[in-house]
Amino acid sequence: MAQSFLMIPFFFFLFGIVIGSFLNVCITRIPEGLSIVRPASRCPRCETPIKPYDNIPILSWLFLRGNCRHCGLPISPMYPIIEFLTGAYFVLAYYAFGITLPTFKWLFFGCLLIVLIVTDLLVRLLPDAVNFLGLGLGLAFATRIFPSSFLGIYGLWFRLPHKLPQGVAGIIDSLLGAAFGSLLLLAAAVLYKLVRKRDGMGMGDVKMMAMVGAFLGLRGAFLTILFGTLLGSIIGIGCVVVLYLIGWKRDLAVRAARRGLGKGNANSLRLAIASQYQFPLGSFLGIAALFVVFVLPRLLQHLFL
Ligand SMILES: [Zn+2]
Repeated sequence: MAQSFLMIPFFFFLFGIVIGSFLNVCITRIPEGLSIVRPASRCPRCETPIKPYDNIPILSWLFLRGNCRHCGLPISPMYPIIEFLTGAYFVLAYYAFGITLPTFKWLFFGCLLIVLIVTDLLVRLLPDAVNFLGLGLGLAFATRIFPSSFLGIYGLWFRLPHKLPQGVAGIIDSLLGAAFGSLLLLAAAVLYKLVRKRDGMGMGDVKMMAMVGAFLGLRGAFLTILFGTLLGSIIGIGCVVVLYLIGWKRDLAVRAARRGLGKGNANSLRLAIASQYQFPLGSFLGIAALFVVFVLPRLLQHLFL
């Protein structure tokens, strides 16, 4: 009895790490505009194709101690970490939604978000291919599963007329979420440009929120932006302070100050340089979206029931 109880999550984990291995391919290739199908994975230095037995998620990396079998080139620990996290995410989705159609929806959503969170973190890119695929999938799922249903009965602002067939109501919520999410970020990007006189947010964030809104509906899109920007601000301000305190680019600031830039004050220059650091807003939005799907409904339940 106990064994079969653990058997299903274990298979979800195995399935997850295999999918995670595919997500690694997407993460490394899509931002460079390469095909995710061909060629088969090979070592970037010696170009030896990676044998199937050296391509087993997590285990191969551990067995090879993070080096190419042929030339010894170090292989980033990012690969096994993403495989493990994807496996863990699949187990989480199983425990949260069981084996149902919504599980399927949240597995797709999580995979798209893992790719976006990591590409934004590594190369500050949120590829169109992922955003648009997600937008289409989100709208398609909305015909069968009402987007905000995971938030339960906590009607925040509006209720669609009950007479509408559920598929139609779902599509409307999904479209509203996509429009609201992307337009709010677009407005923020325009405002930022007007105030700071430079680009602070890319269109990638705008398209990503269209995708997130299509999956989560209007309420979910709003909550994602709320928690994503909150998380981003806390971590962002923390990073600027830390970069300043550890003396990031101190030499540059001192030299610039000697040349009479920035009113001759190296410290104010350093703070200005530290605040130029570009933050991966998409990564924060992705984490917030997962928080809204998996944590927030349970939190609300504990608080109000
Ligand atoms: Zn090699």
